[in-house]
Amino acid sequence: MKLPRPLSHSSITLYGECPQKYKFRYVDEIPEKPRHFFSYGQSVHSALEFFYGAKSPVPPTLEQLLASYKETWVAKGYRSQDEEAEYFDQGKALLKLFHGKHAKDFKPPLHVEYEFALEVEGVPVRGFIDRVDKLPDGRLAVVDYKTGKKLATSRIDIDPQLTMYQLACESQLGAEVAELIFYHLPSLKEHRALRRALPLVDELRRRVVDTAEAITKEKFDPKPMDTVCKWCDYKPLCPIFKNQYADVPMAPAKASGEPELAVLVDRYGAALAEAEKAGAELGKALKKKGYVRAFGVKYEATLNPAVRWEFLDKKKVLEHIKKAGLYEKVLAPSTPLVNKLMEDPATDPALKADLAGLGERVDAPELKIKPL
Ligand code: SF4
Repeated sequence: MKLPRPLSHSSITLYGECPQKYKFRYVDEIPEKPRHFFSYGQSVHSALEFFYGAKSPVPPTLEQLLASYKETWVAKGYRSQDEEAEYFDQGKALLKLFHGKHAKDFKPPLHVEYEFALEVEGVPVRGFIDRVDKLPDGRLAVVDYKTGKKLATSRIDIDPQLTMYQLACESQLGAEVAELIFYHLPSLKEHRALRRALPLVDELRRRVVDTAEAITKEKFDPKPMDTVCKWCDYKPLCPIFKNQYADVPMAPAKASGEPELAVLVDRYGAALAEAEKAGAELGKALKKKGYVRAFGVKYEATLNPAVRWEFLDKKKVLEHIKKAGLYEKVLAPSTPLVNKLMEDPATDPALKADLAGLGERVDAPELKIKPL
């Protein structure tokens, strides 16, 4: 098979973690559930993109930064409104501190959210780099923001994500990378590493090529590990756990990250669509024959030949009703109440005529069905 999409740092990591999970995600294209921590990270990243995206030496004000944060806030995946509000406030506090620290020494970077696309031995690789700064000596500093509470810094000198960013910048921007930085936002601390030496870059190149080769040869064996499987959305579909889900009907791939729910959603949707079609046909057939009731073997259907009035200019309707001294009868000109007034034989015919001039009488047969 062909690669389903260019590789990226995260897809290579996912393949390394569990090839079967990679297949579910990128080959079968089954989406994972939204997660609040991804939404939070995305929201803060967008705010910083706005901050550093300023095309002038003057940075956005704190008010502008917070307004942009609010505007681009991603609300998906939170378990409750309280949790969302808590994260929103946490991000706001973080951005205030960030602005306080960096507005003073603001310099527009060389690139913000830099999108790269390169080939490693013919394998397409894509990605985004949070920020690329130009240093006074003309070399580059690559910055990756981290929003998680904990950041493992012990491996920063060999971390393959930063190695990939160095490779991308040097091959695409034609300048040498001097520094690789993980910026831990909750503590406002920058963790720096020097540029990678050739052996590490070669190791990354090999990893890219090996991963691409394994994917094209369709090597998608599951790699179960408690810590990973525990959070895996594909568990109900995974061959390793199939016995646990033996009695649960599963939707085919692509349906959603919730296969049991997907089966019910599709069943309900199909039943409703079929019911609507059958109902329209039955209503038409009853009307054609002039019947209001018909019997099947198991059900009885009744067609209530109700009519209703529809009004566009509700203000005028209210004026007429008030003028006729009947305001209390409808309290407000809600459509059902005005309809009642129109169908009430006791209503003054002059008012009925006035209202009829403002509306349209619509046939609204109501089909009811019940078991026999
Ligand atoms: S449940 Fe575990 S083994 Fe199965 S796809 Fe997910 S991570 Fe892989």
